[in-house]
Amino acid sequence: MTTTQDWFISVALPVPLRNTFDYRLPTEADPTANYMGCRVAVNFGHQAMVGIILSCHQTSTYDPAKIVAALEILDHKPLFTAELLNLCWWAADYYQHPLGETLSTAMPTPLRQGKSSAPTLAAWQLTTEGKGLPETALKRAKKQQIALQYLLHNDFLLDADARKLDINSTTMAAMQKKGLVEKVERVPEHQAPKDAADQLLRESPLALTEEQEAALSQLSFHRYTCYLLEGATGSGKTEFYLQAIARTLQAGKQALVLIPEIGLTPQTVARFEQRFACSVAELHSNVSDSQRTNNWLAARDGRARIVIGTRLASLCPMQDLGIIIVDEEHDLSFKQQDGLRYSARDLSIYRANQLQIPIVLGSATPSLESFYNAIHGRFAHLRLTRRAGAAKPPTISRVDLRGKTLTAGLCDASVAVLEKTIERGQQAIVFVNRRGYAPSLLCHHCGWIAECPSCDANLTLHKAPYHLHCHHCDAQKPVNRHCPQCNSPDLNPRGLGTEQTEQWLEERFPDTPIIRIDRDSTRQKNSLQETLAVVKSGKPCILIGTQMLAKGHHFPNIALVVIADCDQGLMSADYRGPERMAQLVIQVAGRAGRGEIPGQVLIQSHSPDHPLLDLLLTKGYHLFARQLLNERQTAFLPPFTHQCLIRAESKRPQNAIDFLKMARQQLSSLMPPSQQLQYLGPIPARMERVNERFRYQLHITAGSRKALQKLLKEGIEKIDQQALARRTRWSVDVDPQEV
Ligand code: ADP
Ligand code: ZN
Ligand code: ZN
Repeated sequence: MTTTQDWFISVALPVPLRNTFDYRLPTEADPTANYMGCRVAVNFGHQAMVGIILSCHQTSTYDPAKIVAALEILDHKPLFTAELLNLCWWAADYYQHPLGETLSTAMPTPLRQGKSSAPTLAAWQLTTEGKGLPETALKRAKKQQIALQYLLHNDFLLDADARKLDINSTTMAAMQKKGLVEKVERVPEHQAPKDAADQLLRESPLALTEEQEAALSQLSFHRYTCYLLEGATGSGKTEFYLQAIARTLQAGKQALVLIPEIGLTPQTVARFEQRFACSVAELHSNVSDSQRTNNWLAARDGRARIVIGTRLASLCPMQDLGIIIVDEEHDLSFKQQDGLRYSARDLSIYRANQLQIPIVLGSATPSLESFYNAIHGRFAHLRLTRRAGAAKPPTISRVDLRGKTLTAGLCDASVAVLEKTIERGQQAIVFVNRRGYAPSLLCHHCGWIAECPSCDANLTLHKAPYHLHCHHCDAQKPVNRHCPQCNSPDLNPRGLGTEQTEQWLEERFPDTPIIRIDRDSTRQKNSLQETLAVVKSGKPCILIGTQMLAKGHHFPNIALVVIADCDQGLMSADYRGPERMAQLVIQVAGRAGRGEIPGQVLIQSHSPDHPLLDLLLTKGYHLFARQLLNERQTAFLPPFTHQCLIRAESKRPQNAIDFLKMARQQLSSLMPPSQQLQYLGPIPARMERVNERFRYQLHITAGSRKALQKLLKEGIEKIDQQALARRTRWSVDVDPQEV
């Protein structure tokens, strides 16, 4: 007879160590149960921690006398399915990140903290007093009456159902105040996942265009293929996703839809809910912690049939996943920039392959990585070249800024077109790629510039509220009245930010709503949605914004897009500059003329004849991308090669440099530099000093992904053992997107 005393568990803990830890199974646990993927509370040193059980075994490689018992098993059912564990394992391995921290990244915060994993749903039920009311009561509050009538016929009203009845939380709160209803938590019932096919759709799908039809007929649902859907803006990619998902749901499987960060989710979710009758769960940072936990569990249990979310949704457990969609696959927000530096897109490709299911990467402007894979046959290439419905592609023209007077970033010719657009009762977008009022404050007398004391950066001038702001370390300062160097009062804003254009346009178009959309104007939850409601009303207005505006919004009434300055991307020192510039131009331009009104795009530039801009505008993104690929190949750059960045930072610059020198030496002793393996560095990061810390990096470029992975696996382990590694703040970034 075995007792729990003889059983050990291997546990992954959220600590920056690359090994797992053995504990004894708690005495009350059942050794025959499957605890793999369950959370367990343990003491680690003097700290209580929540870890994940990886395996259960009767022998340990450590001295059994020294192994302590775990405190408590926290889940009845594994939080991590075997499939998700495997995915996290791969991610930890590929991105050189500790497994325990990787698993922790996958979980919503309350689960990380050890809170209950029993799913609950918020609901309302009638109090005794409420039950005593007749159906005709509450006549003067129509919404309350509807809720009452519903509750007289049903045991409870779920928040989700309340939304469908158009009853909001204020209504329910008012009834609660009257003592008619009370809040309860319900355990969700398990719906049969296989909705009958005719009950699946709430609205009928659109008749597909020829191109959509041809693309959809190429999808195969029963094995792994990665499809690159290269579809012009407005060509009906979303309709393609909806119909591909409908087939998946009909086969009784779930769908996972990944979309970029910021603002897009409610729009996308609304479109899916309008189409499908099944439950759609959202996973992104605007969903409350408890709701996110519930949605995560609903995905695991199969109650959620469609999961829509940002990067973090790629790490959620799914009971029966049948398709993955990555919309706007080129978007930078799919790559996490700290901790586990994973690419949600690449992770999802691995996941689809493991599950033998299709994955669709959609974009009007595919990343060069995906483009390369499509051209070389690793991905299936689907194309939608024409806009769906009545919309025509916008006409794009360049505005030569040389020698022209600019007001708030706009030249007279552009303002004249803006004016005509508004006169015609249409809407316009002005795209400015910096937030704030001006990117710097300059003394006209001596040339002094307001700089951040902690970073190698200028302070940005903001007018509302009036202050100087560092966009790198977030430091804020009052605006100087006199130059600290020469005492002159002649301090002037220099350069252009969204606030400046906003202010000037408000004076120039006093009767037209001017709406600014950037990180500052949309800080509050939902404010972006409220602002966009004005735009959706279709009345004339001018939108001013940063790249936030470029992301997938569908406004049918936009007739004009002005791009104030596209030169930065052309002149960028980062080899990805031109790729990003082109994506931005095409995406922003794609906001114009999506409805019946023809669209017009003006691109202001000081180098309108730049060969790359010329290529993009005359030949389009597809040929532009091919040309960039040729250049990348000649220069031994991704996607023809594979990169890893080791970053280090310290208060004294020498510490970070010493660490990276050691790292380089360790790595090159394993694999010396060659034609197929290049080391560069330590070199300073693009911005060397941020928040009083000096930042350096070591670039490793390899001809083969396999060789790079092998080098990292062995090399990082050796680096880890060095004393310098414990004293320095450092990180590994595989497939870095920003260098
Ligand atoms: P994308 O995601 O490629 O930017 P959308 O899917 O948002 O494009 O489609 C743009 C517009 O075209 C939407 O108004 C959509 O309803 C419409 N549309 C898409 N497919 C069709 C179709 N097959 N027939 C008619 N209209 C369509
Ligand atoms: Zn001065
Ligand atoms: Zn700073």
